[in-house]
Amino acid sequence: MQPNKDLINFDVIVIGAGAAGMMCAAQAGQRGRRVLLIDHAAKIGERIRISGGGRCNFTNRDIRPENFLSRNPHFARSALAQFTQFDFIKLIQRYNIAYHEKTLGQLFCDDSAKQIIDMLRAECDLGGVRWAQPCQVHTVRAGVGAAAAGFTVKTDQGEFTGQSLVIATGGLAIPQLGASPFGYKIAEQFGLPIIAPQPALVPLALAPETLDSLKTLSGTAIDVISHCEGQPVHFRESLLITHRGLSGPAILQISSYWQNQAYSTAKSSQKPGNKKQPISLNLLPDLDVSDWLQEHRQSKSNLTTLLSAFWPKRFAQEWCALLQWQKPMAEHSNKDIAAMLDALTAWKIMPAGTLGYAKAEVTLGGIDTNALSSKTLETKSVPGLYVIGEVVDVTGWLGGYNFQWAWSSGWVAGQHA
Ligand SMILES: Cc1cc2nc3c(=O)[nH]c(=O)nc-3n(C[C@H](O)[C@H](O)[C@H](O)COP(=O)(O)OP(=O)(O)OC[C@H]3O[C@@H](n4cnc5c(N)ncnc54)[C@H](O)[C@@H]3O)c2cc1C
Repeated sequence: MQPNKDLINFDVIVIGAGAAGMMCAAQAGQRGRRVLLIDHAAKIGERIRISGGGRCNFTNRDIRPENFLSRNPHFARSALAQFTQFDFIKLIQRYNIAYHEKTLGQLFCDDSAKQIIDMLRAECDLGGVRWAQPCQVHTVRAGVGAAAAGFTVKTDQGEFTGQSLVIATGGLAIPQLGASPFGYKIAEQFGLPIIAPQPALVPLALAPETLDSLKTLSGTAIDVISHCEGQPVHFRESLLITHRGLSGPAILQISSYWQNQAYSTAKSSQKPGNKKQPISLNLLPDLDVSDWLQEHRQSKSNLTTLLSAFWPKRFAQEWCALLQWQKPMAEHSNKDIAAMLDALTAWKIMPAGTLGYAKAEVTLGGIDTNALSSKTLETKSVPGLYVIGEVVDVTGWLGGYNFQWAWSSGWVAGQHA
């Protein structure tokens, strides 16, 4: 008996049923394309399920290309404009998913991230998408039978063919959630350049001696502005000192830029191998610290007491003890006051590294956007091959930006694949 051709020959094969892959499959299916969606994991959308503390920060009201890191900072512009945050919000509203805005434009489900997964599944059903899951992909070949066009995908569920192939297998963060280097391997196979992947939106590790000096501050948090010298951004968010290093949103945000220095210094034609710059923290973001120090220049109070008006008492005590500023302000030298100004407005800490993919939220770098059309996400050198989502060298800030890139790039490829 001949196998049922409808079950092996497709117009579009999407590998990776995460945020980008499901959006793409649903769109292509709703255009009338016969779509197969393959994932090796037993459960789909795991990253969506655990995101935003189980409520999924699915987008941000304010999405701009500047909220993304990429070697080509303009690349994301077209996809983000073709399918915007407002388009995604409309979709959410169509499914009656209640949501709310947290800080900084971040939108979360009121109830559960599972609602987003169910919505994407329903969208795939509307497009008649077929699923192969859990399904291991063994090989991918360009060319179907004797024809030069199309792709053959060999899996543990048999061989499938498709005119278009979409790679949506994400990055390397949190390997327990099914992350794999599949996308990078396919890129190598088809000769697509890769920007070295690195963990991003990740806590920063400190050298043992720095960690030791900060151990009394472990478990404390304050609001700061984080910055990394030579990088174009500042983040006003919370800093958390942990027993392993630095964390909290202010650190996760700046970690991507700290990691990014390797290629931004290369771009500015400095010698490769330049040392990374430390991160810099403004510990009193709401104050003109210079004026404030002058105001208290002759005070009988010590710095700990004065800082306790702004910080948790323990942070003030331990930070001042660390820097040995414990006597009354009036007894400090002008040199001390200048050092206080520096330390309070630009406390410099040199991370020893990051806590790695196990603790990262995303992967910086990936398939070089130079190899892709920004309008369609199709590769320039292999007709019919598309790459979307986190596997591409486009990395968003914390705050719903990474999902928006997944929705936008998935939607765009879904119109063309
Ligand atoms: C803990 C955590 C919380 C996060 N919270 C947020 C948030 O609130 N807001 C936000 O915007 N972003 C958040 N992110 C980032 C966001 O989840 C990702 O950027 C987004 O999911 C990327 O979508 P994607 O479709 O490219 O990849 P993924 O969603 O990772 O999907 C990739 C899919 O490919 C499959 N796959 C991988 N390898 C293979 C293979 N070899 N064969 C077959 N299938 C394969 C995987 O099983 C997975 O289903 C969070 C990330 C983490 C880790």
